Amino acid sequence: MTNNLNNSYDVIIVGGGHNGLVCAGYLAKAGKNVLMLEAQSQVGGAAITDKLIGGKKVSSCAHFLNQLSPRVSNDLNLASHGLKLSASNISTIALDLAGNHMHLNKTSVKGGNVSNSDADNYKKFMTLMHEYAGTLGFMIDIAPIDIFNLDWDDKVAAMKLGWKFRFSLGAEKMSEFLRMIGMNIRDVLDDEFDNELLKGALSFDAVLGTYTGPYSPGNFLTFLYRIASGNSGAVDIPKGGMGAVTAAMSSAAKANGVEIRTGSRVKSINVDNCAVTGVTLENGEVFNAKIVASNANMKTTVLDMVGPRHFEADFVKRVGDIRMRGAAAKIHIALNDVPEFSGLARGDLINRLVIAPTQNDVERAFNHVKYGEVSTSPMMEISIPSLVDSSLAEDGHVLSATVQYAPYDLKGGWTKKARADFLEVCISRIAEYAPNIREKIEYAELITPNDMEDRYGLIGGNWHHGELTLDQMLMLRPVPEASQYQLPLDGMYICGAGAHPGGGVMGAAGRNAALEIIKGKTK
Ligand SMILES: Cc1cc2nc3c(=O)[nH]c(=O)nc-3n(C[C@H](O)[C@H](O)[C@H](O)COP(=O)(O)OP(=O)(O)OC[C@H]3O[C@@H](n4cnc5c(N)ncnc54)[C@H](O)[C@@H]3O)c2cc1C
Repeated sequence: MTNNLNNSYDVIIVGGGHNGLVCAGYLAKAGKNVLMLEAQSQVGGAAITDKLIGGKKVSSCAHFLNQLSPRVSNDLNLASHGLKLSASNISTIALDLAGNHMHLNKTSVKGGNVSNSDADNYKKFMTLMHEYAGTLGFMIDIAPIDIFNLDWDDKVAAMKLGWKFRFSLGAEKMSEFLRMIGMNIRDVLDDEFDNELLKGALSFDAVLGTYTGPYSPGNFLTFLYRIASGNSGAVDIPKGGMGAVTAAMSSAAKANGVEIRTGSRVKSINVDNCAVTGVTLENGEVFNAKIVASNANMKTTVLDMVGPRHFEADFVKRVGDIRMRGAAAKIHIALNDVPEFSGLARGDLINRLVIAPTQNDVERAFNHVKYGEVSTSPMMEISIPSLVDSSLAEDGHVLSATVQYAPYDLKGGWTKKARADFLEVCISRIAEYAPNIREKIEYAELITPNDMEDRYGLIGGNWHHGELTLDQMLMLRPVPEASQYQLPLDGMYICGAGAHPGGGVMGAAGRNAALEIIKGKTK
């Protein structure tokens, strides 16, 4: 039981990203005495709202809420803790240089010269994708099956999974799913559609946040993941930016009794006799607990905080080998007014605006990062949230764009000049669609993958804490020995995006980890 006079807790959570907050909330709800230690001055990790300039604010990394688990939202009652949406279920608009833009919704598409046959195929294709996503969604919400150490829960999960694939989907759809699962998105889309703008926009969804282009194997699965998580892929804009989501999670955690300390960087996770005993902060303070769950990156956790000497050499090697290459940058622009996008009404601009004209354009943009260069003609996902949320900009507006591709290891480094040059490339790219944007800009900033590592601890700038590729997913994530959130060390767990099911503001990793901790299965 708890004895805070000795700085003792049931569980210590290292890191207050959204997954850490969710994990803490579930554990506290289950009666555990939980301490959360966050290095930064605020919780939220890569899901915060930050000051841009003057009274203007932006969502720093994540800007759209499209993956949050409805179960997490309901269980923690986030609405009663202040979570509100300023726009829900917005469309994606694939921008076209000639102004013939395409509007994409769950199963309907219009504009962009889409033919009747492509529009019909889109409906059929997306309906099937939502069926597949339903099956995949079941796997997102549970710990991966432990193939080395099958317990009763694993056997039940395996049976349910088999049932869902074979009987809910049916033999024909299951065989089609198995055919497609390892494919690249380009081959899948080329089999289905003719319209280049449609294929460009859909392929962008498969590569967003990854180190892949449409031709890279296996990213049909990342395409499905987007739909499988959250509310069937619906895209929302949280009121107050992404920081409002994590503020609600923090409020829920505190209401359940979690003690949260910010500005508390954990230096080491302490181990005695092959079991975790607690943590030591950089300032030397020690906190005790028999269970520690880390929301920090897996490499940071194992190699820096616990230390390799507490694990088998093979395990340490596998952790060191986890690929974590980031290829997305972010730009934030303070505007004195909304720029005009040729062919779009002001009311359209609240939607998710995507620049990805063709699959080949996306692939060409990706080519650069392989050689340590930035894309000369980058792809983008743009949001102007202040159109529906004046709390982000009392006067004027803010625009944020996730930009692909920018490498972590830029040839010559991210010098002041390299940053200014790439920011200029990005603004010029938006100006192709919104010619008067330059007149409206008050201030603009670029966040590189290196900044993401420095500011938010996203090693390599990878927003999933480890690339989402077939060999690093499901029971192989982050490495097979830790796929059920527990590391091969008594009392040591992970609860962040580096674990199954990966990144995106889902809360699923945090929830799944909490349920495993509560279950108390030992390795
Ligand atoms: C540019 C960009 C755009 C994105 N866009 C979207 C989007 O639109 N929608 C979406 O859903 N997702 C998006 N994402 C992904 C999403 O932001 C992340 O996957 C998610 O926030 C990860 O959450 P997490 O809680 O697992 O980890 P993190 O948010 O990384 O949290 C980890 C926490 O641990 C703390 N920490 C680390 N080390 C220590 C230590 N030693 N001591 C104490 N604390 C420590 C960190 O400070 C941090 O707060 C985007 C990411 C990026 C980078």
